[in-house]
Amino acid sequence: MQQDRIPSWEELRIVVISMNPYRSLPIYTPQKVEEYRNRNFYELSPHIYALADEAYRSLRDQDKDQCILITGESGAGKTEASKLVMSYVAAVCGKGQEVNKVKEQLLQSNPVLEAFGNAKTMRNDNSSRFGKYMDIEFDFKGDPLGGVISNYLLEKSRVCKQPRGERNFHIFYQLLSGASDDTLMKLKLDRDFSKYNYLSLDSANVNGLDDAASFRTVRIVGFMEAEVQSVLELVAAVLKLGNIEFKPESRVNGFDESRVKDKNGETIEMCELLGIEQSVLERAFSYRTVEAKMEKMSTTLNVAQAYYARDALAKNLYSRLFSWLVTRINESIKVGLLFGLVMGVLDIYGFEIFEDNSFEQFIINYCNEKLQQIFIELTLREEQEEYIREDIEWTNIEYFNNAVICDLIENNQNGILAMLDEECLRPGTVTDDTFLDKLNTICAEHQHFESRLNKNSKFLTDHSLPHSCFRIQHYAGKVLYRVEGFVDKNNDLLYRDLSQAMYKATHSLMRQLFPEGNPAKVNLKRPPTAGFQFKASVGVLMKNLQTKNPNYIRCIKPNDKKVAHIFTDSLVCHQVRYLGLVENVRVRRAGYAFRQPYESCLERYKMLCKKTWPHWRGPARDGVEVLLTDCSVPTEEFAYGRSKIFIRNPRTLFTLEERRRA
Ligand code: ATP
Ligand code: MG
Repeated sequence: MQQDRIPSWEELRIVVISMNPYRSLPIYTPQKVEEYRNRNFYELSPHIYALADEAYRSLRDQDKDQCILITGESGAGKTEASKLVMSYVAAVCGKGQEVNKVKEQLLQSNPVLEAFGNAKTMRNDNSSRFGKYMDIEFDFKGDPLGGVISNYLLEKSRVCKQPRGERNFHIFYQLLSGASDDTLMKLKLDRDFSKYNYLSLDSANVNGLDDAASFRTVRIVGFMEAEVQSVLELVAAVLKLGNIEFKPESRVNGFDESRVKDKNGETIEMCELLGIEQSVLERAFSYRTVEAKMEKMSTTLNVAQAYYARDALAKNLYSRLFSWLVTRINESIKVGLLFGLVMGVLDIYGFEIFEDNSFEQFIINYCNEKLQQIFIELTLREEQEEYIREDIEWTNIEYFNNAVICDLIENNQNGILAMLDEECLRPGTVTDDTFLDKLNTICAEHQHFESRLNKNSKFLTDHSLPHSCFRIQHYAGKVLYRVEGFVDKNNDLLYRDLSQAMYKATHSLMRQLFPEGNPAKVNLKRPPTAGFQFKASVGVLMKNLQTKNPNYIRCIKPNDKKVAHIFTDSLVCHQVRYLGLVENVRVRRAGYAFRQPYESCLERYKMLCKKTWPHWRGPARDGVEVLLTDCSVPTEEFAYGRSKIFIRNPRTLFTLEERRRA
C-alpha cells in the first residue's frame, strides 16, 4: 500500500549499494520512475530512484538541503548513477516551459563535460578524469531554478601522454571522427588519428564508443555557433602543438639552443588558427626570460626544455579551456537566488591503483580518502555516538577510521603535500628524489610521523620498495607511488614567455585563457602549487557537503574485465570491506531506523490512544510509553532515549501511520 510521507522522523543515513551490471537493465524506465515516486524509502526494493526520491522530497517538504555522494572505484558506475539521479529528479519535479528549459540545460551539461573531461583508461572506457560537483537549486515548490558546477583538478598530463592501452580525452577523437569535412578543413585538421603525436594509436577505436555520434550530442549545448567554433579551434591548436618539433642549434658559446623544426607547416597553421605571429611563438620556444628584482635576463632553451615548454603549454591550454567550459555552462544555468533549496550531486574520479601511480593517482586517491572520511564520520561515528548520548544500550562496533591517512597527506606541517610544497619552493636543486629523501627522512625522524611508522603506520617503508617510490596504505589498498614528475606536476610551471605569446593572439578566447600574459599585469609572485590548490578546493567541498543532509550511493564493480555476467568474489569482497559496508550493516542491524523527540512523536500519534488524547498531562516521554503500550507495539521494537524515541523497524512506523489514517 502506498504510504504518505511520514514527517518529522529522523532516519538513518540512507545508503544504496549499486552494483555495475555492465549491461542495460530494464529498471530505469518511466514506469519505474512512477513506481518509486512519492514512496517511503523502505517500502520498495532498494533503487537509486528510491534514494533520489527520498532526497528530493526531504528537500521539498522539509526544506533540508541534500547532497548525494557517489563513491566507488574507477569503473564502478558513479557517473552513470549520477546521471540516473539527475534524470529521476528531472522527471518528478515541476513541469512547464520555463522549468523544462532549466532541466534541459542541466542535463545537457553532461555530454560536453564528459567529452572534454573523460577518457578511456584501463579501468573504464569512459573514465572521469576530473571531479564534478553540481549544486542544483530549487524553489520552495521543488521546481528547479538552475545550478552551479564545480570542477576539480583535471588530469591534464593525459593531454600529452597516455599510458599504454589508454586514450586521450574523448573530444579529440570525437572531433576528428564526427566533424564535417568543411569544419575539419577550417580547423586545418586531418581525419587520420595517426597524424597526431598526442593521440595514442593502440586504442584509438574503443568498442561500444561511437565517437562520431557523441560529437553530435556535444554540439547541441546552448553555445553560440561562434563560441563552438572558437572552442574547437583551441582543441585543434592542442593537436597542432603536439606536432611541433625542435632541433638543436649549437651556438658559439657552447649552449644548446633549440629551433622549431617546421617540416610540415604545423607551426604556421597553429599561428594562423590563433592569430599569433609565427616569430613570437618560435621565440617563446627558444628563449626564456627570467625576471628578478627588476632585472630581466634571457636564457636559451635546449631541445628538451623546448619540448617541456610545448607540453606545458598544451596541458595548460587544455585544462584552462576545460575550466572555461565549466564557467560558461555555469553562466547559462546559474541562478543568483540566496534562499533556494539545494541538492548537491558529487561524482568524482574513483580510487585508482595502477602498476605505475603518479601525482594524479595520489591526488585522486587523497580525494577518495576525504570522502570515505565523511562517510565514516556520519554513518559510523556519529550514529554510534548518538546512541551513547541518548543512553541507548549499545555495543560499540569497531571500524577503521582513515583520518590517519588523511592527516598523513594533508597535515599542514608535515603532511606529504606540505613537504612537496616545501620542496618545490625551496631554492637550489630540487628533484623528485630530493623530495623522496625528505619524505623518508621526515617520516623517520619526526615525532608526529613516528607514531605512524609503528604498526599503525600508513606510510609504508620496507626494503622491497622499488627505487624512487613510496607506498601508502590507503583505506582501499596499498598503493605504490613513483615520485617521478611529482615536483614538476605540483609546480605546474608555464614559462611566462609562452603565456605572453598566447596573450598576443588575436583569438579572443585564447587571450582570455592566459590573462597572466598581459604585460601590464606582470605578477612576479609564484602561483600556488597544484597540490595546494587541490587541497584548498577539497576543503571547501567538504565544508559544503557537511552543511547538507548526505545520501550515499556506494558503487561496486563486479569484475575487472568491464563485462556483464561475471562476478569476481574476491574483488567484490575487497570493495565491500574497504568501503566499510560490513560495519555499516552491523550498525544498521543493531540500530534503529527512525528516531524522533518525544514531544513530536506524542503530538503526531496521541490520537491513537484514549489516555493521551486530546491532552497528555505529564512528561512527553511517559506519554509516548503509555501510547505505545496501549497500541500493543512489541517492546523490542522501541528504545527510549534521553530525549528521543527510537524505532527499530520501518514496518512498525508504517503500521502506526496506517492506524492514524484509519
Ligand atoms: P570513473 O571513476 O573511472 O569515472 P565511474 O565509477 O564513474 O568510473 P562509470 O563511467 O559510471 O564508472 O561506469 C563505467 C561503465 O560501466 C559505463 O560506461 C557503463 O558501460 C557501465 N555501467 C555503469 N553503471 C551502469 C548501469 N547502472 N547500467 C548499465 N551499465 C552501467
Ligand atoms: Mg566517472
